[in-house]
Amino acid sequence: MSQKTDNQMLYKWDTIGHKKQLQQLEKEIAENNISHAYLFSGPKDVGIFRIARMFANILQCPNDLCHTCQDCKLIQSGSHPDMIVMTDNGETIKIDDVRDLIHKTNLTSYGKHRIILIENIERMPIEAQNSFLKTLEEPAGKTIFILTSNKINQVLPTIKSRVRRYSFYSVEDGVLKKYLQEKFGDNSDLDEIIQISQGRPGLAINLIKSPTILTEQRSIYNQIEFFLKKNNLSQKFMFVETLDQEPEQLELFFDAFSRYLRKLVYEYLSSDNHALKSRFTLEDIANLFESLEKTRYLIERNTNKKLALENFFLLTER
Ligand SMILES: [Zn+2]
Repeated sequence: MSQKTDNQMLYKWDTIGHKKQLQQLEKEIAENNISHAYLFSGPKDVGIFRIARMFANILQCPNDLCHTCQDCKLIQSGSHPDMIVMTDNGETIKIDDVRDLIHKTNLTSYGKHRIILIENIERMPIEAQNSFLKTLEEPAGKTIFILTSNKINQVLPTIKSRVRRYSFYSVEDGVLKKYLQEKFGDNSDLDEIIQISQGRPGLAINLIKSPTILTEQRSIYNQIEFFLKKNNLSQKFMFVETLDQEPEQLELFFDAFSRYLRKLVYEYLSSDNHALKSRFTLEDIANLFESLEKTRYLIERNTNKKLALENFFLLTER
């Protein structure tokens, strides 16, 4: 058994937060109560797939995650014969990919388990999920599925009901800050980075490591502030065109906008005279927030992006 660390964890999960969930997983391992299928869900960039990988590694290693045995080495190099890992490459998982996967799960495994790790299972369209469901219902021998999702509402209920589910949440600001300070030292932008990250360590680390992403965040945030200050629909629509062409920018935009609205609410409640009080009531801001979330949801469901964003921007005019 591994040494207990001061966090009372049996294993070094190498992740921030999620203590409760990890302790529960450790309990299942200790009690040898492993399910044939797991679904870990929660926000992007909180380390869910990292945990899934670590969990798979613990299950495969005969020495409780030693990092030195053959299994650990093969997993680290991505060439373990009993691990099929489908990381999110931004592409849809097609029905043919699922068939291929089913074929692989039927081959004999070498070691303790055959583990199939799939990042963001919602990448499977409904028909692919349905076809995948059959393997979940009749798992081949020693196969264990570990699935993750950032968009749990896009996963079929029939899949959800056949897996052991774990929900993960964003990490507390204080915990995140302490971790970043310990790991990266002092950083004059740290408070801003914490604010932008909204409890997502993956994003915070990206912002620390890549100042260009931080600059981009700032510029889009300033752009939003500018847009909310006055009516200028044609400029807003031109901006929508640029967002429409770059999908990564879209996520940045939604994050920055919700951050800006949070700031507005805070200002509203804490001071009498903030810049936008003459333009928006507190109720307007709440409505904008709701519409922003709705727009994000619609776009995720493949609604026309441009149209949805233009409709949203109409609400920012007075
Ligand atoms: Zn090992």
